[in-house]
Formats: sequence, C-alpha cells, structure tokens
Amino acid sequence: MAKLTVRDFDFKDKRVIMRADFNVPLKEGKVEDDSRIISALETIKYLLDKGVKKLILMSHLGRPKGKVVEELRMGPVAGRLSELLGEEVEKLDDCRGEKVKEAIENTDKRVILLENLRFYPQEEAGDENFAQELASLADIYVNDAFGTAHRPHASTTIIAKFLPSCIGFLMEKEINYLSKVSQASQKPFIAILGGAKVSDKIGVVENLLEKVDKILIGGAMAYTFLKSQGIEVGASRVEEDKLELAKDILEKAKEKKVEILLPLDHLCVEDIEKPQTKKFSQSVDIPQGYKGVDIGPETIEKYKQIISQAKTVLWNGPLGIFENPEYSQGTREIAEFLTQIEALVVVGGGDSASAAKKFGVADKLSWVSTGGGASLEFLEGKELPGISAIPDKTS
Ligand code: ADP
Ligand code: MG
Repeated sequence: MAKLTVRDFDFKDKRVIMRADFNVPLKEGKVEDDSRIISALETIKYLLDKGVKKLILMSHLGRPKGKVVEELRMGPVAGRLSELLGEEVEKLDDCRGEKVKEAIENTDKRVILLENLRFYPQEEAGDENFAQELASLADIYVNDAFGTAHRPHASTTIIAKFLPSCIGFLMEKEINYLSKVSQASQKPFIAILGGAKVSDKIGVVENLLEKVDKILIGGAMAYTFLKSQGIEVGASRVEEDKLELAKDILEKAKEKKVEILLPLDHLCVEDIEKPQTKKFSQSVDIPQGYKGVDIGPETIEKYKQIISQAKTVLWNGPLGIFENPEYSQGTREIAEFLTQIEALVVVGGGDSASAAKKFGVADKLSWVSTGGGASLEFLEGKELPGISAIPDKTS
C-alpha cells in the first residue's frame, strides 16, 4: 500500500518537522562525505518551494549513547547544508525545551537544524514524551530518513502518533526501488550476494529463495558454503557454527529450483597484510595455509555471463576485500559490468554502496540504497517501523 507523501499535503505557512539521515562521517570537524545531506535536498527544497513557515530538521549523528558529546554536535552538518542550500541554516544547541521553542519562534531563518537527537537516551528508547515534545514544535511531520527506518525511535516512528505524517522523496524512492527489485516482475532475477558473514545474510537469502532464479555467491561467506560441501578452503574465514545452515540453504534452494552458484576459483594470500603472497587458486580448492580474499578470473567470467541475461539484479555484499585495491578486482569488474546490462539493478548494504561509489558506478545503476541495515531488513521482507508509522494513502 502506498504511503502518504509530501505531495499529499498543503505546506503553505505550516511549521514542518522533518527527520533526515544526516549521520555523516566527520573528519577534523568537517563533513567528510556529504552524500547523505545531498540525498535529503530534494525534499528540503520542495518544502521550501511550497512556502513552509519553518522547516525544522532533525537527525542523529554517530553514537553519543544518550549524552552530550562535543565532537558529535550538528554544527558541521548545518555548515555544509547552508552551503548546499545557498541559505543560512539556524543551528540550535539542543533539540528540546523552552529555549528551542523560543529560538524557532524568533529566528528569521526558514531552515532550523536541531541538535543531535541521540544526546538524549529517550530518542533510541522511543520515549513517548520525548516524541511528543518534538511534535509540539511543528504542524506536520515528514520522515525522509530511510537509513534509520528500521529503528523504532522517537523521531523516526513514535512522533508520527502526534502529527499528520508523510514520507519524503528519498524514502519514497527507497521503498519503490527495493519493492520493485524484491517483486522482480522482470525475469530472470539474479541476486549477487557476498560480504562478510552468512549469518548476516540468512534472512535475505531465505526471502530471496521464494522469488529469485539464480544466486551468485562471493565474499567471505562463500567459504562457509564451500566448506559445507566438503571443499578445501585453507585458512579462509569460515563460520564453523554455520556450516549446517549453509548446507540446509543449498538443499532448500535445490527444492525450490533456485540455482546457487559458488566461486569456481579464488584469489588467495598467505597473509592478508602481505599482498605479495597472492596467487590464483587455479581450482575450487584453496591451498593449505592460504585465505580466499576475492573471486578468481574464471568465476568473474562465469558470473558476468549469467548477469548478462538478467532483467532484474539485486547486489548485496562485496565479492572480496574490496577496500584493498590488491583484492578488489572481482568486486570492481562485476560492479562495472552491472552498468552495461539492460536491467533493473539495485544495490543494498552499506559496504556494497561504498564499493559502488568507490568504483564510480553508483550513478549508472538503477538505485543504490542509502540505508545499510535498513535496506537489508527491507530485503528480508521485514516491515520497517519508520515506514509502518506513516499512514497509507486512502485511495
Ligand atoms: P554490506 O554492508 O554491503 O551488507 P557486508 O557488511 O556483509 O556487506 O560485508 C562487507 C565486508 O566483507 C567488507 O568489509 C569486505 O572486506 C568483507 N569481505 C568480503 N570478502 C571477504 C573475504 N574473502 N574475506 C574477508 N572479508 C571479506
Ligand atoms: Mg556492512
């Protein structure tokens, strides 16, 4: 069911409170990567164009754990946002209380940024009174923070009880693309799954088995799957307590006629810190004492061949230790190949999104989710509290 969006409200002369995901990396008091701020601009500009009286923005930043942490104040975010908007943003030193109310009344600025919400433990606890206090600052609530939509926090979920509420454009796009890829109306639907652990991706795999045609596996989790089939994985990272689970998944896939492909060859090293020890395995087995760090050339070719036939692709999880350029070839080649096919290609997962950006493909794919954990929970088929809290459109 479609949610109410900013298109469904009249914002003229209204006070609007909007939850954004401004949880950006900081370096020496500056915003190191402003992509999350940029992602919120479309909704912010729309609301300003529609003549809001005040636009009150709020977010968390880092993990201050319920107390004031000087390095995690929102100042740098306000600075960068002012630059991007071309108008001064009023940054407040708190997010609740009389002083905040007065400052909002008295400022001549249209855009106000509240202080880090997680300076109060009530935010993450989903406290009703705290949510109500935030709500009392405005007439309408907009949630555009997909990155925290999986958390039932005061500013992401509970506040919607107290105000007319809707989602912003970023949230709408996330829901549309992630739903579209999950439904996969265009077949074949191929999922590429990698990353660190089988245990992180179990929910996604199980949900996908119901709809996907093929799953291509890479990353560290491939070795748990390979070992569960009796293949030699040397000193690779394996989750010993997940071997049975891996075996079960492979069997379940067979029953459902979903083909799961495991790597045919690997790039491996004796020591991750010593790239000079790297060599290709030449076969599916990894030599004793070696660790797999990337998929090998035969696997890359095989996976490309399968991907070339896809009409829908979901990619979650890097295929190797892509952070190190010595071990990034598999992830980079597959990422680049995804830009060359005629298909809906959606990327979920925080590290996968970083990889897509790093290899310069993010803008050429259908959608790269801005929510790491939130995108995974969505792909597991879970309801996200931040989305459920917003009313459905009535017609
Ligand atoms: P996402 O955030 O996209 O869901 P994950 O968090 O599951 O992805 O996994 C990303 C991490 O997995 C990366 O830091 C990467 O270095 C690591 N990784 C991928 N392949 C391997 C491997 N062969 N050995 C060890 N770590 C790996
Ligand atoms: Mg990750």
